[in-house]
Amino acid sequence: MYDNLLAGVPTDLWIGGKWRKSSDGKRFDVIDPATENVITSVASATAEDAKAAVDAASEAFPAWAAKKPRERGEILRKAFELLTRDAERIAKLMTLENGKALPDSRAEVAYAAEFFRWNAEEAVRNLGQLYTAPASGARTLVHHRPAGVAVMVTPWNFPAAMATRKIGPALAAGCTLVLKPASDTPLTTLALAPILEEAGVPAGVVNILPSRSSGAVVSAMLHDPRVRVLSFTGSTEVGRKLLAEAAENIIKPAMELGGNAPFIVMDDADIDAAVDGAMVAKMRNMGEACTAANRFLVHEKVKDEFTRKFAERMKAMKVGNGLDDGITVGPLINKDGRDKVIELVEDAVKKGAKVLTGGKAPDGKGFFYPPTVLADVPESAKCLDEEIFGPVAPIQGFKTEEEAIRRANATIYGLVAYLYTRDLARGMRISEQLECGMVGLNRGLVSDPASPFGGMKQSGIGREGAHEGLMEYLQTQYISTNW
Ligand code: NAP
Repeated sequence: MYDNLLAGVPTDLWIGGKWRKSSDGKRFDVIDPATENVITSVASATAEDAKAAVDAASEAFPAWAAKKPRERGEILRKAFELLTRDAERIAKLMTLENGKALPDSRAEVAYAAEFFRWNAEEAVRNLGQLYTAPASGARTLVHHRPAGVAVMVTPWNFPAAMATRKIGPALAAGCTLVLKPASDTPLTTLALAPILEEAGVPAGVVNILPSRSSGAVVSAMLHDPRVRVLSFTGSTEVGRKLLAEAAENIIKPAMELGGNAPFIVMDDADIDAAVDGAMVAKMRNMGEACTAANRFLVHEKVKDEFTRKFAERMKAMKVGNGLDDGITVGPLINKDGRDKVIELVEDAVKKGAKVLTGGKAPDGKGFFYPPTVLADVPESAKCLDEEIFGPVAPIQGFKTEEEAIRRANATIYGLVAYLYTRDLARGMRISEQLECGMVGLNRGLVSDPASPFGGMKQSGIGREGAHEGLMEYLQTQYISTNW
């Protein structure tokens, strides 16, 4: 039944420019979260395959690193054009395996392609410095060299964009790579391989290894001394573990981890604009985003108006199979993901929260959960501390600016915060006190390939996008000399 969407989609391991079966012949199923049907099966890499992929990346590295930056940039530019050409096909494939509604998938493919375009432009901007050392008078020549083989591990929630956000800068910098996509969504990432090949990426430069044995496969690579960069996007829990493993060989880490974003609405906010922003910050990807607004902190004076308008908009969203016309909310990724949302809502309600809309999973096939707004959520509710990763919006009131800042910062995470106020000076003052890497000031969306995406505290180390993203794949050397 999925034949037309799967035509030509690879399902094996991409190593050294060839499609291979896994060394033990094992495969795993990919499930459609809207129907719970098996879509297809994919080869499951082993530690042995991981070694073969690092062999390929390592062999390809010297030639790729030596390629002229303009040539690498032209290949990335071509990859942007090809991904844009194939956007509709890839968007449908993404909806099939991830569940997100087609408009979300289309937006993600466009965002993913932009990382190729942006980095095509960054490839030629790897600039150094020359200066005179103040004390000795020696000339210091600073330049940035490709770091080497990069290992990338990506999550299921943005299977295209989290891959290109890493592949783009790595290729621009002159690195080669092995990427392990999430087991729930390997197809979208595998579909990038033929695009990169057609764009002119040489064999071995990009290797893609789906695997059900993530721990063993990633561990094998992190303990290989040829690997010099680890770029991980996923949960803080797994990130912490991989950081510890990367410590053995002192591998350069770039970690994009979990979030617990506050969405603050001040008493002087434009409430209609705040509701528009809240819909994006909460419902992009059905709430399955590290940037998803996880806690709504609304000034007591405007809380009733904001809550009423927001709940109306949430209620009007259309839940269903993401491939169907008019659907804006697809299923969650899998049973575990939905069970967690059910548990968090039940916990909040038990502790006194009021359900204004949603709040109950429908019967039948598919991991659906309706857009849900919870009012009067008590401080003890677990959903305020944990990533909900679903379409649930807990709302709380606050009375003063200081209280809003204190509560916004009361989390181990520090990825993003959203803030609505008509007073820009106040907005800047509060933003500077928020402990997070990104602030959406009167905006519900911060992600942009030209901005340095990343977190403070336990939300991560390093940045993706902007020029900073390129720097993660470079290592600095200086030559001190007299002439
Ligand atoms: P996850 O469970 O941490 O998995 C992420 C990736 O790590 C997957 O490829 C997974 O493979 C792999 N993995 C899991 N356990 C591993 C282990 N022991 N050793 C090596 N690799 C392992 O996260 P997720 O559930 O896919 O994604 C959701 C999380 O990602 C959320 O916390 C979200 O906030 C975060 N996220 C952060 C950003 C950001 O930029 N900060 C962006 C998107 C998502 P398998 O699929 O095979 O388990």
